[in-house]
Amino acid sequence: MKILVINCGSSSLKYQLFDMENESVSAKGLVDRIGIDGSNITHRKTGAEPFTITTPIKDHKVAMKLVLEALLDKEHGVLKSLDEISAAGHRIVSGGDLYKESVLVDDKVMDGLRQCIPLAPLHNPGHIMGIEAIQHALPKLPNVTVFDTAFHQTMPDYAYMYGLPWEFYETHRVRRYGAHGTSHHFVALRTAEILGKPLSELKMVTCHLGNGSSISAVKNGKCIDTSMGLTPLAGVLMGTRTGDMDPACVPFVQNITKYSADEMNNFMNKKSGLLGISGVSSDLRDVEEAAHKGNERAQLAINMLEYGISKYIGAYTVAMGGLDVIVFTAGIGENSAETREGVCKKLEFMGVKIDSEKNRVRGKEAIVSTDDSKVKVLVVPTNEELMIARETKRIVFGN
Ligand code: ADP
Repeated sequence: MKILVINCGSSSLKYQLFDMENESVSAKGLVDRIGIDGSNITHRKTGAEPFTITTPIKDHKVAMKLVLEALLDKEHGVLKSLDEISAAGHRIVSGGDLYKESVLVDDKVMDGLRQCIPLAPLHNPGHIMGIEAIQHALPKLPNVTVFDTAFHQTMPDYAYMYGLPWEFYETHRVRRYGAHGTSHHFVALRTAEILGKPLSELKMVTCHLGNGSSISAVKNGKCIDTSMGLTPLAGVLMGTRTGDMDPACVPFVQNITKYSADEMNNFMNKKSGLLGISGVSSDLRDVEEAAHKGNERAQLAINMLEYGISKYIGAYTVAMGGLDVIVFTAGIGENSAETREGVCKKLEFMGVKIDSEKNRVRGKEAIVSTDDSKVKVLVVPTNEELMIARETKRIVFGN
């Protein structure tokens, strides 16, 4: 069985074709600059060299046609007929509070996605265009939407509500929704498998640390709290995003500078975080390098990052009434031994003992705590596309 996983943005379309017999990727690629000068498609059959075609691609329908042609291509393709594709799975950034799990697409779901546009104005319109494009090309193909927000829908109300006047929630749906849910769910499932314990018996903190970072409390397999909020700005310090701060900083600065709401949003999302504090880069590798050379602001950015992560783990230990496992994933979580060690050292009093030797791992599954550590610490590379493919198979064909 073959499942096509699609991650569509407003001007890009990423895809992976999975062979679900062994959950391997047969081919993948990216259509870039849709509707913009210089649009192109890069396609790669697994094990072969990638090839790129630069050609005008005016919209998502043209993009999807090119993807399907690439999959059928005699030299670079992996399919004889499009009938071999059994279903498509779509990554959706926000399902708001409408979707608690993945769903089969019908007209009602398309309406729901449109209702969620205010919650993800930069993402959901692109997702909708992607679904419409494949519906146009392959009208009989079942489509499944897999939401980044769905895994967090089990949070209790006291964890997702903000202390704002009630009308803000009722009228404008202002509350915590969280992000990266597909990744948190994937690593939580995989961690239970690695440890050989039922997920339903584990108290876990999953740390997805990339350019954007979020931390989740996963108690007995259910998310009970997460660090991102209404938008992906909240939580720990990120590459270019502030993470948590006193919201009154915004009107305070605006009253003095007269910056508009959009300008402030841009500062908080694009110019803050590791970049804003260090003045060096949004990439932790560069910040670590600068800190090693004695750059004090770079060191401060690292201290803020590690302090913030450890505080969340502490808080979520309280939220869950205990802690069995800490899981690190995504670019920083999988690769930065320094960050993992810096965070875990602050949690020693809670029975977290990291093994510096085992922790010298990069991008691979590993248990990096000592054998006698009360709390297990794991590195688990995330795979959101595989999770979407599995969800699509489950929804369309059952387990
Ligand atoms: P995104 O959130 O965009 O998907 P990733 O999960 O790919 O991002 O994470 C990207 C971040 O991972 C980079 O900004 C970089 O800081 C960090 N990273 C990648 N490799 C390393 C490494 N070897 N050491 C430290 N940080 C790393």
